[in-house]
Amino acid sequence: MSDEVTARTLWNGDYYNEGSGKDGLFDKLKEECGVFGVYRHPDAASLSYYGLHALQHRGEESAGMCVSSGPDFNYHRGMGLVKEVFDKDMMATLVGDIAIGHVRYSTSGDSKLTNAQPLVFKYRDGNLAVATNGNIVNAPQIRRELEQSGSIFQTTSDTEVVAHLIARSPKGLVDAAKDALNRIVGGFAFLIMTNDKLLVASDPHGLRPLTMGKLGDAYLFASETCALETIGAELIRDIEPGELLVLDENGLLEERFANHNREHRKALCAMEYIYFARPDSDMNGANLHAARKRMGSRMAVESFVDADVVTGVPDSSISAAIGYAEQTGIPYELGMIKNKYTGRTFIQPSQELREQGVKMKLSAVRRVVEGKRVVMIDDSIVRGTTSRRIVNMLRDAGATEVHVRITSPPFKNPCFYGIDTPDRRELIASSKSIEEICREINADSLSFLSPEGLITAVGGDNETDYKGGLCMACFDNDYPTNIDFDGEEKFGCGC
Ligand code: SF4
Repeated sequence: MSDEVTARTLWNGDYYNEGSGKDGLFDKLKEECGVFGVYRHPDAASLSYYGLHALQHRGEESAGMCVSSGPDFNYHRGMGLVKEVFDKDMMATLVGDIAIGHVRYSTSGDSKLTNAQPLVFKYRDGNLAVATNGNIVNAPQIRRELEQSGSIFQTTSDTEVVAHLIARSPKGLVDAAKDALNRIVGGFAFLIMTNDKLLVASDPHGLRPLTMGKLGDAYLFASETCALETIGAELIRDIEPGELLVLDENGLLEERFANHNREHRKALCAMEYIYFARPDSDMNGANLHAARKRMGSRMAVESFVDADVVTGVPDSSISAAIGYAEQTGIPYELGMIKNKYTGRTFIQPSQELREQGVKMKLSAVRRVVEGKRVVMIDDSIVRGTTSRRIVNMLRDAGATEVHVRITSPPFKNPCFYGIDTPDRRELIASSKSIEEICREINADSLSFLSPEGLITAVGGDNETDYKGGLCMACFDNDYPTNIDFDGEEKFGCGC
C-alpha cells in the first residue's frame, strides 16, 4: 500500500518515546525477570554480581542476592540497577559459596522493595530463599486457600506462594518442592536455596529459559547463556521442561517433577527468540543473533519490497535487518540511533520542546534516510503507538517511503507466563486487520513474519515437537496450559 495522502493526514508530530515515562508512550513489551545461581564457588557473590549485570536487560527495577555461608544467609535487595544496589562495602558482607540472585521488572504499582527477590524465609529446617522468573497462573487461588488455612503473606509475589507450599509440607525439601511445583501452573524458572542445598526447576513446558554452566567444580545457573559467558563459565546445557535439579553434598542429582508428554508439550517462549534475550545468548543450541538474522532473511523471502536502504529498530531488530539486507541485496544502514543513557530521567521535555523535535530515546539518521525508500525492521507491534512514532520520525527525517516488516506474527493475545502485556483490547492486532494497522502506523506497506517462518528461523522442528517446541500463544491463542482458574485470568508477571 502506498498512500501519501494518508501519510500526511495521519502525521501528528509525535515522536518515538520522547520521554513521557516508562509506561507512557513506550509500548514495547517488558521482560519480567532474570535469575542467576551459584553452587559451591568461594566467590559466589561476585559471580552473581557479574551474572546479574549481564541479565540486566531482563529487569531494571530491583536486584537482589542471597548467599549461604553454611550456618548463615547473607542477603541484600534494593531498588535500581545491579550496579546501584550493590557497592563494594555491601559485596564484602555477602560471604558464602552458594548464591541465588535476581533482577526484576515489575508492573507499575507493584514496584516495591518487599517484592524484590530473592525472598528469604525461616522455616522449620533452617533458612529458605527463592528466586523466580515467570508467572504462576493459579497463584491467586492457591494463595486464597493458604490464607484461609492460616498462612500470612508478606508480599504480593507469586514466589511466596511456592515458599509457603514448601514450608507447610510435612515432607523433606525435595519431595515438598516436587509437590509444590506440581501444584502450580504457569511459566517459571525457579532457584530455591537452603543453607546447604540448591534446587533448580523449570516449568513442565520450559516456557522461561534457564541454562546450566560450570566454572571449575562450581555449578552455575542463569536465565541466559550470556551471563555464563560473561564470567567465563562453560555452557553445559539448558534445563529441560519439568526438570528439578538438586545440588547438595552428594553432587548433582537430576530429577524430574513432571514428564514431557502430550499434556506437557515443550513450549519455550517465542518472544525470547524474537525480542527479549540478548543476541549473544544461545537457546536450544541456537545463537539468538543468528536466529534473528534468519528471521530477517525469511521475512525478505515472504514479503520483499523494493527499497534503497534497510534499517532495524535498535537494538533488538538490528540482527534481523542485517538478515533482510543480505537476502535482498538492499544495503543495511544505521538509520536510527538509540540513546543509551535515558534509563532514569527526571526532566522530560516540555510539549514545546517536543514540538521542536527533542527526542530522548531514538533518533533517525537524517543523512542515511533522507530521500530514500526505507525498509524498517522491527520485532513486534503491541499497541501500534511506538511503530507510528518511529515511522513518523523516519518520514520527518526525509524518508520518501517507509515499509515496515515485523519479524513476528501479529501479537493478538496477552501473555500469562511472565511477560507484561496490555489487555487484549489494547493490542492493535487483536481488533484490526494488517491493512488497518498499516494505515494506523502511517506506513507505506506492512508485513508480519508467518508462524512457519518463525519456527524455521529458530531451528524448531514441527516433526519432533508441536509448533517446533515454541509457545506462540500471543500470536495464535493456543496456550500450553490452562489459564482460567475460578473464572479468573491472571496475566503479566507474578514474580
Ligand atoms: S504467550 Fe507469547 S510472550 Fe508469553 S510465553 Fe508465550 S510466546 Fe512468550
